[in-house]
Amino acid sequence: MFKYDYYRAETPDEVCEVLARYQGKARIVAGGTDIMVQIREKDKRWKELECLLDLSFLEDELRYIREEGDQIHIGALTTHTDLERSEVIKRWIPFLGKAASTVGSPQIRNRGTIGGSICNASPAADPLTPLIALDAWTVIRGRDGERVVTLKDFYTGQGKVGLKEDEFVKEFTVRKLPEGTVTGFAKLGRRKALAISRLNVSAALRLDEEGRIDFARIAPGCIFSTPDRVETAENILIGRKPSEELWREAGKAVSEEMIRRTGIRWSTEYKQPAVEAIVEDALIECCGSQFA
Ligand SMILES: Cc1cc2nc3c(=O)[nH]c(=O)nc-3n(C[C@H](O)[C@H](O)[C@H](O)COP(=O)(O)OP(=O)(O)OC[C@H]3O[C@@H](n4cnc5c(N)ncnc54)[C@H](O)[C@@H]3O)c2cc1C
Repeated sequence: MFKYDYYRAETPDEVCEVLARYQGKARIVAGGTDIMVQIREKDKRWKELECLLDLSFLEDELRYIREEGDQIHIGALTTHTDLERSEVIKRWIPFLGKAASTVGSPQIRNRGTIGGSICNASPAADPLTPLIALDAWTVIRGRDGERVVTLKDFYTGQGKVGLKEDEFVKEFTVRKLPEGTVTGFAKLGRRKALAISRLNVSAALRLDEEGRIDFARIAPGCIFSTPDRVETAENILIGRKPSEELWREAGKAVSEEMIRRTGIRWSTEYKQPAVEAIVEDALIECCGSQFA
């Protein structure tokens, strides 16, 4: 059994102080839906753990969804249920609410937070792809104050995020999608209740007055070593009218980019058609089934 101290943080400053004091051997617990399972399963990542630092008493400071001008600020302790129910999210970035609504079960969504989802650094995290599609920033708090990095750069390698010993994530900030943008989120999981995604993808599109696509975002999950948009696929869509054929082309462009970046692997035979199919699904969700 792992043994560690438990610390309840009462201010954001205290979080940084305790993290610094334990010199990398303290770890935050937010909803606990990832880390408590990993500790119970004796994941070797936590062998050296000396302190669990509970953030859940900082809801006043860290649980919020705020609309400010053309930006939306989402506090790290915002739960998946909060995202799913938020009118701001529904209005401006609906695929984030949809992605959150597919996480685990109602119990997991009530406890699991967006901060935990991202800091757990799983490439399969469902809220990750809409945030990547939105070019989100991560607001990080440390003893010296706050710094901001793009979410893409926050992922420093497979399963790794760039936090210093005294730092934690305070917020994710995104720009609202342009007026009239439609979004889609598609996910492929194991055939098992509460399964986490094997593959997922977020897409956003806007049509101009002539019905041509003038804004496109495609962000697939689990296919690159660190999360990213696929601009080659987005560019294929720009200036063209929605069609079944176009969705197929975009799906192909995503799978080609996967192979270009990661090479042919044992999983490619399964992943290539699967990625193409879920990209098409997400695009169909954007524009409706008349183009399916
Ligand atoms: C049965 C089950 C089903 C699930 N299904 C899904 C699914 O379908 N889709 C999906 O995406 N996920 C799924 N998950 C994973 C999990 O629920 C989510 O990743 C959840 O959002 C994690 O949030 P949390 O607050 O519980 O994180 P925690 O477990 O508290 O923390 C996770 C990690 O993030 C770190 N951390 C947390 N908050 C911060 C912060 N603010 N700053 C710095 N570090 C921080 C912790 O130290 C820890 O390493 C599932 C989990 C279970 C148990």
